[in-house]
Amino acid sequence: MVRYALEVKGIVQGVGFRPFVFRLAKELSLSGFVKNTSKGVSIEIEGPEADCKKFIAALRQPPPLARIERLDAEKIPPTGAKYFVIQTSSAGARNTFISPDIGICADCFKDITTKENRRYRYAFTNCTNCGPRFSIVKDIPYDRANTTMAEFALCADCKREYEDPYDRRFHAQPNACPVCGPQLFFYENGREISGDPIRLFSEAVSSGKTVAVKGVGGYHLACDALNEEAVGRLRKRKLRYDKPFAVMMRDIETVKRYCEVSGEEEPLLASPEKPIVLLKKKPDCPIARSVTMRNNRLGVMLPYAPLHCLLMQNHEALVMTSGNLSDHPMIFDDSEALQKLPAVADCILTHNRRIFRRVDDSVSIVINGKVHLIRRARGYVPEPARLDGNQSVILALGAQQKNTFCLCKGENAFLSGHIGDLDEADTAECLEREIESFVKIFDADPQVIACDLHPDYVSTRIASRYEGKLPIFHIQHHHAHMASVLAEHGLTDNAIGFTFDGTGLGLDGRVWGGEVLYGNRADFARCGHLLYFPLLGGEGAVREPWRCALAVTDIACGRGAALSLFPEYLEEAKILLAAGDKNINAPLTSSMGRLFDAVSALCGIRKTTTYEGQAAVELQQVMDESAAGAYRFEMIEEHGRMIFDWRPLIRAVVADVQAGIPAGTVSLKFHRAVAELIVSAANRLRAEKGCDTVVLTGGVFQNDFLLEKSMKKLEESGFAVYTNQLVPVNDGGLSFGQAAVASARIRK
Ligand code: ZN
Ligand code: ZN
Ligand code: FE
Repeated sequence: MVRYALEVKGIVQGVGFRPFVFRLAKELSLSGFVKNTSKGVSIEIEGPEADCKKFIAALRQPPPLARIERLDAEKIPPTGAKYFVIQTSSAGARNTFISPDIGICADCFKDITTKENRRYRYAFTNCTNCGPRFSIVKDIPYDRANTTMAEFALCADCKREYEDPYDRRFHAQPNACPVCGPQLFFYENGREISGDPIRLFSEAVSSGKTVAVKGVGGYHLACDALNEEAVGRLRKRKLRYDKPFAVMMRDIETVKRYCEVSGEEEPLLASPEKPIVLLKKKPDCPIARSVTMRNNRLGVMLPYAPLHCLLMQNHEALVMTSGNLSDHPMIFDDSEALQKLPAVADCILTHNRRIFRRVDDSVSIVINGKVHLIRRARGYVPEPARLDGNQSVILALGAQQKNTFCLCKGENAFLSGHIGDLDEADTAECLEREIESFVKIFDADPQVIACDLHPDYVSTRIASRYEGKLPIFHIQHHHAHMASVLAEHGLTDNAIGFTFDGTGLGLDGRVWGGEVLYGNRADFARCGHLLYFPLLGGEGAVREPWRCALAVTDIACGRGAALSLFPEYLEEAKILLAAGDKNINAPLTSSMGRLFDAVSALCGIRKTTTYEGQAAVELQQVMDESAAGAYRFEMIEEHGRMIFDWRPLIRAVVADVQAGIPAGTVSLKFHRAVAELIVSAANRLRAEKGCDTVVLTGGVFQNDFLLEKSMKKLEESGFAVYTNQLVPVNDGGLSFGQAAVASARIRK
């Protein structure tokens, strides 16, 4: 007889880990105990050596939602115990890990689709392997009393399941059934309608109506994705004219009929995280054109809440876009929903399980067989990313657009879900509330603050409140982007970083965005950038790509050529150029994002936009991959720095457009030029610095063609190439990068 004491760390609470341990011990006839502690789970087992070894090996294949970060085993003297028991949690157990919200498991799906089951068609079915978690947690430890399920008392049947270690619902905190749990309600014109809410939903959607549906982390707006008119109406009401809508499809077979699904995309769609996956539409895809507008990719997800499964029994494909008004955060509060959503929805399908915090759908894309998260939220948050070597508690406040924040406690980096664009007051409030909640739930009082260099970011202003109390690191935007990749991949040595995005304040006070950096997590040098050009009319140029086209053409081809570009904007163009001549409201930028905008406008794809990145997205969409040729950037050297001169490139674009060369060809030649620039600059820096690690990051690399091409060419040239996968490549990943820089500087 031997006895082992085991300490398990990771996501091991509230995910069916203790009953799993209990059953395993029983199977092997071991005695001892298991209990939750402040650090995870403690186990002691006693029995023959061989069986103990078997037990420890089996622990490494835990239940689906559990994540073991660390397992320490130590031999201790046997006590002669006879039984194996689940002990109550030790007092003051602080649960530092909470599972993300997880899509319905196969067993629960069976329960709700089996007539004889007591949960047949019950929309709030869950178990220890699935169901809501983070969206309903108010406080720690993760017990029912600290969730919004506290309002529902377990019935005798549910209680029995909850207390039976052999039951799948043993200690499933949100356990519920039709007798004791939450219920659905259906509203039309502000009045509750009696009848089966699922049937009422289907009738409404089939007649072309939009229904707001309360899901796991907030309200969606749903309508028939095959009904052009219904989708068009939703666009107008939501004031969302072009940005693609996500679609929920019944099952994987349906997805495969509508879209191309690769070997990596299928398991991602079906994974417990159930993210939206950006798939390539099949040519005969019957989804309404206005779902994706000019986009060849379609964001698809499978039903993840039991409610969705029930709704999808009557529909193959539903638009499922976040329930909000234009750019505001998704609504999750019931009274706010009833008050605001009637402006965009004909009916509301809601329920009385309160959502404690908004959790948006995650968005992913598979490039080169690898999963990249473009928005990391439901299914992933708050599972920590790893910030190796960190020893402090760091709060990093992120960017202004696509804001997220990151609270690091030691090596665990708790990234928030998608907060949104901080220009809206309600989004900024949401940021502050979530920070407070994270500090409480993860029991982590910040010791160090990290934020952007830009003084006007709302996130920077929140950071400045700690002035005089805590050390604050103001981190250059593109360095943070680069550090996010370095930290994600555990890279500590110097690397060559291509950071291409829309905007970020540079060390020289200018608007950077086409940057080649060289450095590590603590320090960097700017080794190259795009030739500056003025953002005519300032910030507004972001929504008016034609202004970028005007600015670069003016510099490359002269005033006459510039003024002849857009006759419809002639008067405005004259005023903008005249102001630019006097340096009025014309900040200089080296932004690659804006150069994409300029080319998009020059070939007539997009002169104005309704969402961020639209001009570049549509430029990529029209690309004709079979076309020949490429444009070229010229490289100038200035103070030992590479300046990427786009003037010859713009002259060639203007000439091609005038010669009637199709936009698809211009687009391809431009993309090739950018990829070529990356490779030649990398080669040059390798010769100079002896470094062959390359990092590609920034919102521009959401362009999968550019990312794929650049990576391939770099790898062919012998570089080790890294980009973001776990955290968004856009500004959504910035907070993680800021934390990485701050952590590295503290240690230095
Ligand atoms: Zn389940
Ligand atoms: Zn019940
Ligand atoms: Fe950025």
